[in-house]
Amino acid sequence: MSTRVSTLKGEEAIREKGELVEGMYTRVNHDTLTQFVIDVLDRFGVPREDATITAQVLVKADLRGIESHGVARLKRYTDGLKNGVVNTHPNIRSVLETPATTVIDGDFGLGQVVSHKAMSIAIDKAKRGYVGLVAVRNSNHFGIAGFYGLMALEHDLIGLVTTNSEPLVAPTFSKQKFLGTNPICVTVPTGQGGFVLDMATSVAPIGKIEVARRVRKKVPLGWGIDHKGKITDDPEEIAKGALVPLGGLGETLSGHKGYGLGTVVDIFSGILSGAAWGANVGMTQGPGPANVGHFFGALRVDAFMPLPDFKARMDEFIQSLKRAQTLTGEQEIYVAGEKSSYTESVRRRIGVALDARTVEMLKQLGTETGVDFPFNRSRPATGKAKDDQE
Ligand code: NDP
Repeated sequence: MSTRVSTLKGEEAIREKGELVEGMYTRVNHDTLTQFVIDVLDRFGVPREDATITAQVLVKADLRGIESHGVARLKRYTDGLKNGVVNTHPNIRSVLETPATTVIDGDFGLGQVVSHKAMSIAIDKAKRGYVGLVAVRNSNHFGIAGFYGLMALEHDLIGLVTTNSEPLVAPTFSKQKFLGTNPICVTVPTGQGGFVLDMATSVAPIGKIEVARRVRKKVPLGWGIDHKGKITDDPEEIAKGALVPLGGLGETLSGHKGYGLGTVVDIFSGILSGAAWGANVGMTQGPGPANVGHFFGALRVDAFMPLPDFKARMDEFIQSLKRAQTLTGEQEIYVAGEKSSYTESVRRRIGVALDARTVEMLKQLGTETGVDFPFNRSRPATGKAKDDQE
């Protein structure tokens, strides 16, 4: 039996979000972790500036309690760099441009680098002409969609981000992986921090299945099916089968609507951009080029009403949502982005959480590249996940 050693007290212990199911993890400083990732990517030939962007996107996921998309994925990117399917020096360029829109060819660069550039272009266009829309082809897995939505928020713009990904989700009434988990992110300026909806269009993203596999735990029934199409809680079986669309299997709980949303994401990210789509989307680690597609949007609020008025209306909207009658009296009503931003503020102070397999993988990457793994002396703690508490 493990002894729980919580590093958090009171309200923080209750509200810190995290995908790690109960088990051992190590707390590490986010700045030191970022530097380690930069150094590793540098050894794989990624220019320092691009390595920094990539490291920031990965560590941001860990800071926000989305371990499934954080540094745990570093090896996939370095495998892609090693295989040559990810381009260390991409010529990221516009191939079609209008005042409000651009199509970017990412030249198979790291998805984070390509996407940072694409969202920067969308932001620039929105600042000058109220709206900027950028479709991207020939890219790779970009990590959390939220990172790029937050970029728009920094400029008080409404942000929109979508991406397709490798086939993992079975369309309604199919047992075959066809669509990616195709996330959507919408960010909206408010007086306090912003509204940040960042979600996969499947019940669970594959990253949560991977976290469960890493810590050898079952997942809730309803997240995925085995290769025969039967619902299972075994993450190993789901890995061989498929994830189900948001809403669940079949039409009973509106799985067809999640399937529809995932399809819409692929229409914008894959079809409209000229990237791969559906089951043709590849993986960052190879064997062939992934040709992932993304879509980025930025919108100026003052095209509709003065920004301060909008923010005041958003704040009032959020406050009234949070005052709605709760189910049990003990629960709190959240709005999207609230838990992640709270978690980020906590983890900036106490460190991000890495599970044992991730620590091992990072150590191995450190050994392989000659980069000193800086956390050898950190003490493991046990932790409890958000899912266990709600
Ligand atoms: P979650 O289900 O954890 O959260 C989805 C959204 O719901 C978040 O905005 C979250 O806000 C919000 N939320 C959570 N709980 C509540 C609540 N009680 N009330 C109101 N809002 C709530 O995310 P997913 O598991 O679907 O996705 C995780 C990440 O995976 C995302 O960052 C996504 O971009 C990424 N992803 C990336 C893919 C890729 O190919 N690159 C593919 C699929 C997913 P909060 O953040 O504050 O909890």
